[in-house]
Amino acid sequence: MSELTDKLDAPLPSVKITCTSVACGEDLHCFLQKKRTGNLPHYGPCRACGAERVDWERAHRRDFGDIDILFTELRQEVIREHMWTKPFDNDAVRRASKVDRKTLLEKARKRLISSVGKPAGAWDSRQTKMEGNVIFYAQHATATCCRQCMHYWHGIDKNTHLTQQEVDYCLTLVERFLDARLPEIEKA
Ligand SMILES: [Zn+2]
Ligand SMILES: [Zn+2]
Repeated sequence: MSELTDKLDAPLPSVKITCTSVACGEDLHCFLQKKRTGNLPHYGPCRACGAERVDWERAHRRDFGDIDILFTELRQEVIREHMWTKPFDNDAVRRASKVDRKTLLEKARKRLISSVGKPAGAWDSRQTKMEGNVIFYAQHATATCCRQCMHYWHGIDKNTHLTQQEVDYCLTLVERFLDARLPEIEKA
């Protein structure tokens, strides 16, 4: 047996959550549609069970007054709920505890611009790691992690540079997530 095969036979780590994971039995879904041709929308009912949970027209209006509703909808997707509830890893906690809220938000703005500010490239959907920084958690939880998620959740065109308004909206989502979860860091 080669070394590689041995590695493959090793016990699997806890189930890997990906952007397209579903747990429909727990009422957690994925609203990104399977590969589509033509101009069909990339958003819609759960790709696995067909559950309709999101008012897409409202979500795509990006109204700051609707963020609470949006968060309820986002959390019905496996990947968002996972990142919303997963405890922060040690590196993330350490980094966050070194800065005040204002600095953290400045970092979040810079990170949004550098990670998702440009049109989607070949690296899209891989530019935001799953751990190491609370901002990464915030980005996955709010669907501001990559241009594909921003496109189907927030109706932001994948092929343009983000406008100031779009950056502000994404930053507000990140900020709201961090404010909800920062007390956890302070306790750590
Ligand atoms: Zn489902
Ligand atoms: Zn994404």
